[in-house]
Amino acid sequence: MASELRDLRGIGPQLETLLHQLGIHCVQDLLFHLPLRYEDRTRVYPIGTLYPGVRALVEGEVEHTAIVRGRRATLVVVISDGTGRITLRFFHFRAAQQKQLSKGTRLRCYGEVRGGFQGLDMVHPSYKRILSKQDEKVSDRLTPVYPSVEGLGQASWLKLSDQALSLLQSHQLELEELLPDDLQGNLQIPSLASALIYIHRPPAGADVAALVERRHPAQQRLALEELLAHNLSMQQLHRRQRQLRAPALSLSTDLERKFIKQLPFRLTGAQERVIHEIQSDLAKSHPMQRLVQGDVGSGKTVVAAMAALRTMGNGFQAAIMAPTELLAEQHLRSFRDWLKPFGVEPVWLSSKVTGKARKSTLVAIEQGAPLVIGTHALMQEGVSFGRLGLVVVDEQHRFGVHQRLALLDKAGVESLHAHQLIMTATPIPRTLAMTAYAGLETSVIDELPPGRKPVTTAAISNERRAEVISRVAAACSDGRQAYWVCTLIEESDAVQAQAAEEVARELQSRLSGVNVGLVHGRMKPAEKQEIMDGFKRGAVQLLVATTVIEVGVDVPNASLMIIENAERLGLAQLHQLRGRVGRGDLQASCVLLYSSPIGTLAKERLNILRQTSDGFRIAEKDLELRGPGEVLGTRQTGLLQFRVADLTRDQQLLETIPAVAERLMNESPERVSKLIRRWIGDAARFAGV
Ligand code: ADP
Ligand code: MG
Repeated sequence: MASELRDLRGIGPQLETLLHQLGIHCVQDLLFHLPLRYEDRTRVYPIGTLYPGVRALVEGEVEHTAIVRGRRATLVVVISDGTGRITLRFFHFRAAQQKQLSKGTRLRCYGEVRGGFQGLDMVHPSYKRILSKQDEKVSDRLTPVYPSVEGLGQASWLKLSDQALSLLQSHQLELEELLPDDLQGNLQIPSLASALIYIHRPPAGADVAALVERRHPAQQRLALEELLAHNLSMQQLHRRQRQLRAPALSLSTDLERKFIKQLPFRLTGAQERVIHEIQSDLAKSHPMQRLVQGDVGSGKTVVAAMAALRTMGNGFQAAIMAPTELLAEQHLRSFRDWLKPFGVEPVWLSSKVTGKARKSTLVAIEQGAPLVIGTHALMQEGVSFGRLGLVVVDEQHRFGVHQRLALLDKAGVESLHAHQLIMTATPIPRTLAMTAYAGLETSVIDELPPGRKPVTTAAISNERRAEVISRVAAACSDGRQAYWVCTLIEESDAVQAQAAEEVARELQSRLSGVNVGLVHGRMKPAEKQEIMDGFKRGAVQLLVATTVIEVGVDVPNASLMIIENAERLGLAQLHQLRGRVGRGDLQASCVLLYSSPIGTLAKERLNILRQTSDGFRIAEKDLELRGPGEVLGTRQTGLLQFRVADLTRDQQLLETIPAVAERLMNESPERVSKLIRRWIGDAARFAGV
């Protein structure tokens, strides 16, 4: 039973609205709004034992109170308890406060102790005057500190959670146990109610360090529930999708055989296997939901092309969506070249296609153009597909889950839904696969085309830039080619472009015999193409680029890559970049230039790239060091924001999730949606659960 917030004391319309904004709609939600940290106010410390940095509860008598007028007026109060004295400073205060805190008043305060010129002080401690015996009691519980927003103080949170907890303790509020019953016995985990009570009001002497790190069994129990809820919600989402109807694309056509024949290489075993898996999905009359993982250069594009050909051959449309303009353009070129012999011309749509061109493009898409390639512009309103049969989403990790689902809403004909193929080059760590991607079928292209050699990687300080430049000179005079990647994170295209221009100028002036080319995101497609073509032909020997080349270019003769400010990029992204070299017979190398001084953690990260070229290991490390939001690029979606759980810390719990989820779905399906509602609430509604 979910009690109404309104029934609690102290909740008016204004507070109610504020709570709603925080996703708190009933008393039960309040119980799941968990403390961030704790303050220990269970004992009073003698002032003489304090030292800078500790947070402590102290008690003393006011010796002196004054308003000191400097650049800003400060209320200064000195208290003493016989063992020492400490100064309290208030920068915001009311006139009445000075009176309240007059000489002789007994005070109890809690705050962080600082060391100053004039001895110890506390800035804006919370305080209470001791007026009666009642006030002398110390709390027998740790004091929780709740995450909050402007206009909602800790005192309010304490009052609200006090009421919610007493409803729970007096059984006026029932919290249903939703984990499988025997699991609770087997794992000896606390009941939900006792876990919540402990977390909101830990007893004096509780292991605060464990609580703050959320390793306490009470929190681990909640983490298990939360992870389970996320797993179930994704599974349910995908299950629901699979119950929809999709066109069965079972006809194998000549198109595919001819296409394979004209390729300048033979498919790897892994490619053949994955193509086969996709084809058998496509033949079914409900939407495929398959994730294809394959390291950089493993040849995912051909696999996507085969799926597209199958779709077109069966009279439906295929749409291919990539996260950046450049990657989408690269696909456009590949598909154009591949499909020219068959008379298929892809239709192109990005946000840069405007005006008349856009209008006629939209008409073509509506009328069922067989192959549409573009950026997320494909998902925008006003784009409607006449006969959509397949959606290929490349580099899925850059799109949010909900964005992918938005494309599905563009269902094709007669309530038939499109098949979905999701491709990612950043291998998704297993732990994430169990949550964000739970319920998707997965294929792995676990084989690189023959002849690829691992790239030798070195991390070098920017102080040795001159040496690195001579290395580029040597490579170029040997007839080889090189990339120089300029990275500027979170800056605008314009700033990036400018930085890259400067580097290109610098390098050109220092490498007189070398033809330096430059590409960045602000150039017109035709300009970019001209430079890229020059690089492909060998006319351009050194290509200076912003991270736009992460995706796309394929030049076997390029065997050296320099990445500037490598410490700013994620490991997975560096791994992607590095995958641009080592595509020919030459031994390739990659230099990660970093600007000194560099922290040990940053150094350690770069070292991982030196040690391994296994995309999976790299992604695992990336996750560990930077968190799932960074790795998946879905920080804002809310679907991967956990309240208690942490994908890295809770690896062990994650191991148990799939089996528990399976049991719950089979044995107590009614608990599934309750769990999802409890833990994901608003976000789940958003994802259509
Ligand atoms: P990614 O998986 O990174 O998207 P691509 O599809 O871009 O990889 O393929 C990388 C390069 O390898 C392309 O030049 C592609 O033509 C080539 N390639 C793909 N499959 C094979 C294969 N079986 N043998 C040789 N080269 C291949
Ligand atoms: Mg690719």
